[in-house]
Parts: sequence; structure tokens; C-alpha cells
Amino acid sequence: MTQVKAYAAQNAQSPLAPLTIERRDLHPDDVQIQILYCGVCHSDLHTARNEWHNTIYPAVPGHEIVGRVTAVGSAVKKFQVGDLAGVGCMVDSCGHCSSCHDGEEQYCENGFTGTYNGPVFGGENTYGGYSQSIVVKESFVLRIRHDEKDLAAVAPLLCAGITTYSPLRHWQVGPGKKVGIVGLGGLGHMGVKLAHAMGAHVVLFTTSPSKVEDAKRLGADEVCISKDPQQMAAHANSFDFLLNTVAAPHDLDAFLGLLKRDGTMTLVGAPAEPHPSPEVFNRRF
Ligand SMILES: [Zn+2]
Ligand SMILES: [Zn+2]
Repeated sequence: MTQVKAYAAQNAQSPLAPLTIERRDLHPDDVQIQILYCGVCHSDLHTARNEWHNTIYPAVPGHEIVGRVTAVGSAVKKFQVGDLAGVGCMVDSCGHCSSCHDGEEQYCENGFTGTYNGPVFGGENTYGGYSQSIVVKESFVLRIRHDEKDLAAVAPLLCAGITTYSPLRHWQVGPGKKVGIVGLGGLGHMGVKLAHAMGAHVVLFTTSPSKVEDAKRLGADEVCISKDPQQMAAHANSFDFLLNTVAAPHDLDAFLGLLKRDGTMTLVGAPAEPHPSPEVFNRRF
């Protein structure tokens, strides 16, 4: 065991405070990483404050980890001491269900192990990247090829980046597609940048007029204030794809009415309470 300094929440009200945690001795397939940067994800807040009602305390958040390899187990093949490496939201999964076989471990039918607050079915808690170092199974460690000067910007790609890239890619966002990004927080700003880079026509939806300039700077072609029914109605039946990043319960029907026939809305925000259910009949503006 290695003693490591970390920042932890002790309960849903307490601010993060220093705590010494233990990292396991390396298994043959483990990589030890000195953490250089760790992004701050909304999930960190949800967990620290027990907003998903499943937090095990003490909680050490952080799952956008970039660092340098400081030791490897005897069976590790892909990493050497000194390499740059990243860790995202998962550090293990069952390894034998159909999802794991397909390389889709996030859908592991037995529940993947989160980088923090990990033990869904019991076992030792996992502690995340708000700490000096971490030990992770090689198959859940990512190679980082960016320049050293870009490493801080790489960290958010490991959760917010993949969370938005994956659905945009899955639904084949690209030139000729009209794409809406709902919300301009951590996920939303990634969504705008990625959808713009993929060549789509990007519309950012926000309730905050103060975010209009930021959205345009990040690559939005248009900004729609979603509290304004007239602005919303102007986009009715026009979107190929909507990426909804809002982490608070809200009226989904207002957005479903903006989709073209056979259009798709994907929800990637994870609110503490459920959204009101979509209506069966389409709502008219
Ligand atoms: Zn996250
Ligand atoms: Zn599995």
C-alpha cells in the first residue's frame, strides 16, 4: 500500500478537505500514475453532495485524470515509466459480459467500476483524481500523445469530451446536419466545439442571454434562448439531432417538437431527480 494525499468530502455538506488515502500495491496488469491534472466534472459535485443518493464517504472525486506513469506491473505491455497517461470514468468492469466483449464496458451488464465511488455491489470504495497518484488496470488507462503544454486541456476530454463526442459520432453528425446543443456548461461547451468541428450547423440552446457570446465564440452558428417560445417555435421540426446536456429536470417536450421526423435527442445530463416524462402526443407550439 502507498499513502497518498487527496481531497475528500466527508459528508454531503462538508467542503472538500485534505485526507490521506491508500493506493493498492501493483497487480501484474496495473499502472501507477502520478496525477498532473484532473478536470472538475459536474458528477464530482453530484457525488460530493450525494445528489444521486449513492455516495459512500469519504468521497474523493475526479475522473478526468492526466498524469505520468511512475511504475508498471510485470505483465503491463502498453506503458512504460515516464509515459503520459489518462484515466476517465471507469477503472474496471466484469470483462466477460457481451458489452465488455464488444469493448463497450460502460454498458457492462454487471456494472462497471467507477473511478470514484466505485463499488456498486459492495467491495472497497474507489478514490478518484483529486489526489497525488492512482493505480489502474492497464486496459482502463489511455495513452496521451498531446504536447506537455496542452495537458491541462486534455483532462476534460476524458469525461465531458467523450460523453459528447460519443453520441455526436454515433448519430453521424457532420456537414449538412442541423444539430442543437442544449445547455452551455461543461458538457455543452464541448458539444458545441465538437459539433462545429464535425462540420454541422450548430444551434446552442440556453436559458441565459449572457452565454450568447461565449456560444458563438466556441463555434455555435446560432443561439436560441429556450425560455422564449417564439425563438423556440422558429426551430420547430428542423433538427436532425439534439444533444441535451442539462443536468436539471426540465420540459423535454419543448425540445422534442424541434426534431425533424426521425430525428433524435440524446440526453447526457444526469439530473438528481427525473425529467417530467415526454408526452405521447406531439405538442404544438
Ligand atoms: Zn464526469
Ligand atoms: Zn461486463
